[in-house]
Amino acid sequence: MNDSAQNNRRNAKWSKRTLAVHSGTRRSQYGELSEAMFLTQGFVYDTAEAAEQRFIKAGEDEYIYARYGNPTVAMFEDRIAALEGAEDAFATASGMAAVSGALSAMLRAGDHVVSSRALFGSCLYILEDVLMRFGVEVTFVDGTDLAAWRGAMRADTKAVFFESVSNPTLEVIDIRGVSAIAHEFGATVICDNVFATPVFSDAIAQGADVVVYSATKHIDGQGRCLGGVILGTREFIRKTVEPYLKHTGGAMSPFNAWVMLKSLETMDLRVRAQAASAQIIAEALVDAPGVAKVIFPGLDSHPQHVLAAEQMEKPGTVLSIVIEGGQEAAFRVLNGLEIFKISNNLGDAKSIVTHPATTTHQRLSDEQRDSLGISRGLVRLSIGLEGPDDLIADLNRALALI
Ligand SMILES: *Cc1c(COP(=O)(O)O)cnc(C)c1O
Repeated sequence: MNDSAQNNRRNAKWSKRTLAVHSGTRRSQYGELSEAMFLTQGFVYDTAEAAEQRFIKAGEDEYIYARYGNPTVAMFEDRIAALEGAEDAFATASGMAAVSGALSAMLRAGDHVVSSRALFGSCLYILEDVLMRFGVEVTFVDGTDLAAWRGAMRADTKAVFFESVSNPTLEVIDIRGVSAIAHEFGATVICDNVFATPVFSDAIAQGADVVVYSATKHIDGQGRCLGGVILGTREFIRKTVEPYLKHTGGAMSPFNAWVMLKSLETMDLRVRAQAASAQIIAEALVDAPGVAKVIFPGLDSHPQHVLAAEQMEKPGTVLSIVIEGGQEAAFRVLNGLEIFKISNNLGDAKSIVTHPATTTHQRLSDEQRDSLGISRGLVRLSIGLEGPDDLIADLNRALALI
């Protein structure tokens, strides 16, 4: 089953939309049109000698155990790698398995990491609690300040980490700028690119060495499965990430890989429609009563508006608003919404409203939340695939309840 007319792996001339539909496909002897789900943990060898041989060196499309690799998972990995312009990918059980896997696979006690401060709660936990416990020193900086990145770099800095658009305050990090500084010090740039999405971002072309996604978000896009992926050079994925993940057990299930693989086919259409609605809704909320501030990189009031336009094709599908009247007023808005669901996913077909201070970022101290701008009035809106006029009407009705 190697490259043939039946197995469209990748064509460098194809656009992202074509790659998202065809790349990575492996067809069995049945010639199925839709990719098969190989729901198997193990693989059978013809002889004992063949088993021995495969453990010595597994060739292309030779599998041993689904914790190491699986044909459906490989299809997903190849497809997202093609889309991202990465040499290779390793799929993981969740976005957090990707973040912690990428960092833990390459770091050892005594190493130093520089990270932006504005991070998703679980990412902060990995950097602040887990890595520190294993003797890795982490310096946190204001990710929007290139001078702060430069000032924090040291000769022993092995990696820099940031969310290219931060959750939930939507700070935009200059991927080219930070990567140039990191590379002067020989550090690996690890970019959590969830909010930017594979559709709008070219983080690897802009200098990131490693890109991680929570596939749970826009890649699934329909709220069904957890998943994640680490993208990078073949050397990094196969020599550093794979040995670590195949033994520590963070592999993606073949079922989830199949869902994610098929979801990549529609991701471009979904994410573009969601982003178009997000722009319309952000603009509509600017003068809405009860809204003190709208945070969205697509508004010229956003501090990194120009950078966002240079670095991403579109500013994304998530916006945050600050409600006048703090938590009480914010809760009234959440409870008053009908179409927006109170939840904590994002990138979903269903629009979702989140109150970060009491949920996703509850674990942080008041000082940490204050320094990140996660106030009690901050509300995160993930824009889905509903009609934008319905969503605006829903928001206006709920805001009138304050
Ligand atoms: C959701 C999210 C993650 C974690 O992904 P899971 O799939 O929930 O484990 C990591 N980083 C960012 C920016 C996220 O939004």
